[in-house]
Amino acid sequence: MKLVNFKGIYPFTKKMSVGIDITPMRPMEFYNVPLKIKNIAESEPVVRVGDEVKQGTLLAKPSGNFGLNIYSPVSGKVLNIFSKTTLNGDYAKHVLIMNNNKNESVDLPEIESVSDVTLINRIRDAGLIDTISGMPTYLKYAYVGGRSYKTVIIMMDSTDPNNSINQTLAEYKTEEVINGAKYFVNVTSASAVTFVFTEANRKLAAKVKKHILDTKKNYDFKIKFIPNKYPLDNPYILTNLVCGKKIKQGSSFLDAGITIESAEACYNFCRAVEFNKPVTSKIVTIDGNNVIRKGNYLIQNGVSIENLYDFIGVEDKETSSVLIEGNVMAGKAHYNRDISISLTTDSLILQKYDEYDESKEYPCISCGKCAAVCPMFLNPSQIDNAYLTERFDEISKLNAHACIECGCCSFICPARRYLTQRIATAKHYDRKNRGGSNG
Ligand code: SF4
Ligand code: SF4
Repeated sequence: MKLVNFKGIYPFTKKMSVGIDITPMRPMEFYNVPLKIKNIAESEPVVRVGDEVKQGTLLAKPSGNFGLNIYSPVSGKVLNIFSKTTLNGDYAKHVLIMNNNKNESVDLPEIESVSDVTLINRIRDAGLIDTISGMPTYLKYAYVGGRSYKTVIIMMDSTDPNNSINQTLAEYKTEEVINGAKYFVNVTSASAVTFVFTEANRKLAAKVKKHILDTKKNYDFKIKFIPNKYPLDNPYILTNLVCGKKIKQGSSFLDAGITIESAEACYNFCRAVEFNKPVTSKIVTIDGNNVIRKGNYLIQNGVSIENLYDFIGVEDKETSSVLIEGNVMAGKAHYNRDISISLTTDSLILQKYDEYDESKEYPCISCGKCAAVCPMFLNPSQIDNAYLTERFDEISKLNAHACIECGCCSFICPARRYLTQRIATAKHYDRKNRGGSNG
């Protein structure tokens, strides 16, 4: 993989201001807490209809290898447990809780040491979610099988134009973030940590560096910068930029001795260790031309999109709007408001309906723009063509498996071709051809 010639895509909208602190969402009457994250990590309820719960009461625990401890975001009564659609587009059990407005909470027990084993147990018990993959964090650290991590990379920023969670936490919760980074160093026994910022945030990096030096934190750290171009913070590209290591899609970061965390993961880890708080809420960047109060919000798990609209203010609610989860290059559009915020929701964009272009795709005009912006140096139009004409061997020759589904090709394409969606499907054929799983 070469990166030196990478053209990438500059943020095309004004980036969310880093100078805005995180706004906590006001309490709601009902919370509909999804019990499944990332389609495969399912948990089984441990409460029953009619139970009284507090904020921090365990609602569900893993039913298989991939589940997560899920805690109540509020004190109240369990009204129902039923299945419905999630923000991921999946169908999963939810626990419906009515807020009793007593604000009662329960914490995790204190931990006695910050040894690696104790900390890994705390990661599991607190329900920490890997902010990069959306999977339970303990899966990364509990099963290392004789291998070891040498490098911890902490992404303190984002190249995503619609997401400013990490830089906001680095700015306003600096102490918690760098303490959480220290706990990740303990978990991994890595010798050092590298904090990564985009070049747009050099001032913030200087502030973090000064804070670490002033408070005499007992660990080695480096600060590195990457260009502020989407999607250079993708884990496969980031490890190449920061460590000079090329990791193939589907290969293990652990094999390379590298783990990537984020400022948000560090913040959650610190709260779990120092304040005994399980994860019950998510910081979400809300952006888009249909939003009256854009910003970063602390949103309790299970808040409905309808309640969120009321809180942030939506200019055109009736004819409304298309809700995009993720960024405009690779996000998913939703029309259903009867879905809940979950612990993997990062950013939401509310567009006015007339901004959303549902026009059909046109024939490729061979302009070459998709290949010019592809960060993995693929030729998206050729892969697309091979897929549409069912030349599956050709798909492999064109290395479709290396696609990171960043969406840059579809975004730039003047013919509005659905390149990312089809290449995402094509790469499964490529993996099959190479003898890998079709997952
Ligand atoms: S979605 Fe895949 S093919 Fe398209 S630009 Fe991104 S990496 Fe390249
Ligand atoms: S950007 Fe679109 S029109 Fe241009 S070569 Fe790629 S697929 Fe064809």
